[in-house]
Amino acid sequence: MNILVLGSGGREHALAWKISQSPLLDNLYIAPGNAGTAAVGTNLDLGVSDFAAIGEAVLEHGIDLVLVGPEVPLVEGIHDYFLADAALKEVPVIGPAQEGARLEGSKEFAKEFMMRHGIPTAAYKSFGADDLQEAFDFLETLKPPYVLKADGLAAGKGVLIIEDKLEAQAALKEMLVEAKFGAASARVVIEEFLSGIELSCFVLTDGISYKVLPTAKDYKRIGEGDTGLNTGGMGAVSPVPFADTGFMEKIESRIIKPTIEGLKQDSIPYVGFIFIGLIKVGYDPYVIEYNVRMGDPETEAVIPRIASDLVEVLQATANGTLSDVELKIRQEAAATVVMVSGGYPESYDKGYAISGLTSAREALVFHAGTRQQGSEVQTSGGRVLAVTGLGSDFRKALQTAYNGVASLDFEKANYRKDIGFDL
Ligand code: ATP
Repeated sequence: MNILVLGSGGREHALAWKISQSPLLDNLYIAPGNAGTAAVGTNLDLGVSDFAAIGEAVLEHGIDLVLVGPEVPLVEGIHDYFLADAALKEVPVIGPAQEGARLEGSKEFAKEFMMRHGIPTAAYKSFGADDLQEAFDFLETLKPPYVLKADGLAAGKGVLIIEDKLEAQAALKEMLVEAKFGAASARVVIEEFLSGIELSCFVLTDGISYKVLPTAKDYKRIGEGDTGLNTGGMGAVSPVPFADTGFMEKIESRIIKPTIEGLKQDSIPYVGFIFIGLIKVGYDPYVIEYNVRMGDPETEAVIPRIASDLVEVLQATANGTLSDVELKIRQEAAATVVMVSGGYPESYDKGYAISGLTSAREALVFHAGTRQQGSEVQTSGGRVLAVTGLGSDFRKALQTAYNGVASLDFEKANYRKDIGFDL
């Protein structure tokens, strides 16, 4: 079969790398892809939001299945676009239609969904521009720090955690009245601060049954010891050592099952990945957020741990027969270290040659912001490479990943040396 993966990051390279190993695959396309995906398939120069061009490419190349990497095309309705087109509607899209994508696209929608289905999450209220006084009144009922969340997508920047009440009031006014995050903050969710350690859990569903993928923990801050600015993600470890069997059972019974059942009860058809951002408070899991796709860089740690044929699993997801396949997970742990451009997540230069790509020894090197320029692979983004190691435990996996990092280089390369430090 022919498969199209949409996206251009390390997540998409990891997915494409895994798909390319399947005996069921004929041709693999990635749009727009990067220098790494070009080594495992054919890159198509298409934007992920250009549905018309994607539809044409699907018909031209006889594509049988589309796997959507990032959230934006899902929230914008790529799945609905396919369903509404006579020629495309038979081509399965792995990724929810617009209504299901609201689990990520609207934090208020996600909170209401969790309340409706008894899924543990922080207490909250949501407000619009006309409710500023009510919002201030609600702040009075909470203890600091105050958690303010823009309702819509804000590229990971729409959550503010503020210690001081007056500052929180000012930020709230900026969000609601002065549109700090544009339309995304037309509504704001204010929620109770939860204190604990975070982890991510990934589920694949065909809308009927589900498979739980390996857990992961990511490292978002640029600086060691989780300091400095937020980034797209500087590293990940899978599995999460503190998510033992008892804790996983709680996650499955209190969160995963009610989420899948809740989608059914609400008549929201959902085919695709669900990324559940969790926080462990004491020995209990609470949902921080839903994402409607895999995480990046967690995918680069999770996918190499899957032993099953991913194409077979995706095919079953598309056909509604996911319960018939077994998802085999390798016992080994995985760890990913992300190499970024100097200056990221603020301004940085691009176009530096990357060396060592063929000598990274046992590590898997997934490309994120890279491009092929003649015979050279160059940096073309903030996050450049995601280097994954496997090992009998996460420390050995980290060792392999860091050995890989040591053999790679580009000007002003930066990476965190303490991934997994808190585990
Ligand atoms: P992402 O960039 O991961 O997509 P997002 O912008 O969608 O994030 P959230 O994941 O909801 O926003 O929140 C971002 C971060 O803020 C969380 O990873 C967590 O560290 C912190 N956070 C969010 N809600 C709470 C809460 N109720 N209590 C404590 N910390 C929280």
